[in-house]
Amino acid sequence: MTAQTMTFRILRFDPAQDETPHHQEYTLDVPEGMTVLEALLRLQAEQDGSLAFRYACRGAVCGSCAMVINGQVNLACRTQVHGLGADTVIVEPLPNLPLIKDLVVDMEPFLEHVRTVQPWLQPAQPEPEREHLVAPKQWAESEPYTNCILCACCHGVCPAAERDPAYLGPAALGQHYRFLADVRDIADETRVALVDNEQGVWGCDMVWNCVEVCPKGVPPTQGIGKTRAHIRRAQRARKK
Ligand code: SF4
Repeated sequence: MTAQTMTFRILRFDPAQDETPHHQEYTLDVPEGMTVLEALLRLQAEQDGSLAFRYACRGAVCGSCAMVINGQVNLACRTQVHGLGADTVIVEPLPNLPLIKDLVVDMEPFLEHVRTVQPWLQPAQPEPEREHLVAPKQWAESEPYTNCILCACCHGVCPAAERDPAYLGPAALGQHYRFLADVRDIADETRVALVDNEQGVWGCDMVWNCVEVCPKGVPPTQGIGKTRAHIRRAQRARKK
């Protein structure tokens, strides 16, 4: 396929001069195989150096380039322009996080929620002289959540996060379950107390949007459901 001339309608916002965001159009010759991130880099280099967006690895590993592309949240580096099947590509920043400039959002509220769930191993002390042994079947419970790259795609499509900025969100709650399920971790009780509330696992609408958009196959809703089941089991055990 030869290059096709396409329109890019990109959300622009510069807090130094704009009261509200607006869209700006650019045209670009797009060869086969070009990703949205590559298109943004070309536009920035050749047409408008003021265009702001975040990226790093260009290979769906760093999670920096999450944005809304023709209405779908995705990583710009893994979205091929021709694969969108449209003549116009509308590019907008990730929802549910404060907008800083153009396609750049403030990730700090998202990362603060992740820190809230204490996403680190809290093993029994003293630690074994050699490694902790974990059976493959036990590890299978935590493993899917270790693939999270903190891109916040899930946060951008979460109706609970849209409603309540204090809601911890799918990524944080997925990381929470990753350590709750880890047999080496002994902090279950304190971990559960962090999320046993409406800003935690009980705030989830269980609509599975996060699972659908996750570029790394992480299933946050599943983890939230399992944490809820863990809490209910503990409540029943206390009543006996
Ligand atoms: Fe991104 Fe998936 Fe992690 Fe959410 S769970 S931050 S979508 S990798």
